[in-house]
Amino acid sequence: MPLDPTADLGRRAWFTCPRCGHGKSCLTCENGRTCGDHWQYLLANKASLLHLQCPECTHLWSHDTRKSTPVR
Ligand SMILES: [Zn+2]
Ligand SMILES: [Zn+2]
Repeated sequence: MPLDPTADLGRRAWFTCPRCGHGKSCLTCENGRTCGDHWQYLLANKASLLHLQCPECTHLWSHDTRKSTPVR
């Protein structure tokens, strides 16, 4: 899957990808800091619902920030 045309390096969000899980065993990520290696493209957001794309595996998913688990 190609990167979404709206993917912008200037709009990023720090979440773990539900598919490849990149950033899982990274100390910077675990400390909740803005890691320079592990982030997701923030394609769009509607209220608390974020649309994200992983730069590693290009997986697309939505994440509701009101819930703890990602919505697919
Ligand atoms: Zn991924
Ligand atoms: Zn990291």
